[in-house]
Amino acid sequence: MTKPNPKTFHVKSFGCQMNVYDGDRMSELMAAEGMIAADAADADLVILNTCHIREKATEKVYSEIGRVRKHAGKQGRAPMIAVAGCVAQAEGDEIARRAKVDVVVGPQAYHNLPDLVAKAASGTPALDTDMPVLSKFGALPARRRVAPSAFLTVQEGCDKFCTYCVVPYTRGAEISRPFDAIVDEAKALVDAGAREITLLGQNVNAWGDSVDGDGRGLHDLIVTLDKIPDLARIRYTTSHPNDMREGLIQAHRDVEKLMPFLHLPVQAGSDRVLKAMNRSHSRDSYLRILDRVRAVRPDIALSGDFIVGFPGESDAEFEDTLSLVDAVGYAQCFSFKYSPRPGTPAAEMDVAIPDDVMDERLQRLQAHLNRDQAAFNAATVGRTCAVLIERKGKRPGQMLGKSPWLQSIHLMTDAPIGALVEVEVVEAGPNSLSGVERVKVAA
Ligand code: SF4
Repeated sequence: MTKPNPKTFHVKSFGCQMNVYDGDRMSELMAAEGMIAADAADADLVILNTCHIREKATEKVYSEIGRVRKHAGKQGRAPMIAVAGCVAQAEGDEIARRAKVDVVVGPQAYHNLPDLVAKAASGTPALDTDMPVLSKFGALPARRRVAPSAFLTVQEGCDKFCTYCVVPYTRGAEISRPFDAIVDEAKALVDAGAREITLLGQNVNAWGDSVDGDGRGLHDLIVTLDKIPDLARIRYTTSHPNDMREGLIQAHRDVEKLMPFLHLPVQAGSDRVLKAMNRSHSRDSYLRILDRVRAVRPDIALSGDFIVGFPGESDAEFEDTLSLVDAVGYAQCFSFKYSPRPGTPAAEMDVAIPDDVMDERLQRLQAHLNRDQAAFNAATVGRTCAVLIERKGKRPGQMLGKSPWLQSIHLMTDAPIGALVEVEVVEAGPNSLSGVERVKVAA
């Protein structure tokens, strides 16, 4: 059945920061085609930019498709539905067949969305889950207007094959974008209003391995971005311990714009579990990296990811995770119960941990992590730091921003969004700070 060419669109992104970046680029792409952004309830085309990391990801996408159709059906409408992102890549034509959606497009092919939508409008369901090497970035429109804190994807895919993870299958092999293309996009983001850029990649610190063959690494990129005059802050995420090169560690000492924050997932504290996860680093090698980072940047805020209840994890091995957490003292972390992802080696391991044991372990782990996060936040009280104003708060005159250590902070100020303000931290809660404005650094 043919559907009219859509005039309005809505992109709904789930999951990680890279999906947020991809969703923004899809919106820019459709806007460049002359389409108008609309609420999900009114859009002619709804793009679901899906994530495959969480449990029952595929089922959630089917439910979301059902929700969109039901809501539109009550208004007598039948919007075109496109499924993008990692579930589209993993499920391919199965999702097109089962959910009868109009477009299925993988994360490396979304630059083809306009053509796929046109094909679907002519009555033929359109599918593209190819993984061409980096052709999408060159086909996307220029950045026009962005928030003060913007994402910039520099690397995609993963060669690490951790046994619990679908990313190597949904995003493909590790690929780095070319140096000049990244610098050009960073300049365009700054011209469009960004003051802070977070460089994104599944293994962002592996950037450079496949570019030019001249040995340049992420630190070379950071040193170059540091020279963009109106760019105030640089961040990067997510990193793998094995790709923490010396140059990147030294950049935390030498590059003032590089914020004192490092997200370095470890997942578990037991060497046997790390081996079963195929993490290819040990507890000790991970801790040694953190020592080196702290030696050059003592105030750095550390962040990590943890999985509890990996198949076969014993009580003693879980205690190893707690002792690692206690040894590090993280500023913030993400922690999850293990859940099997179809097609991954860990999903075939038949030594599942009972759910109630995982619940209990997660609670204990989070008690340690919350304690350390609260302690880190409390230690910033009395300090004065630059805060990047990102949006309005709930109260009149209140603004919200981020500290250098990625803490949310609210304050009363007439500084506009995008300004940097010197703020004295006066109070710390478990998840945010409050501060008092001292000096506006730059508007
Ligand atoms: S490093 Fe491991 S967890 Fe991270 S994306 Fe690659 S396979 Fe997944």
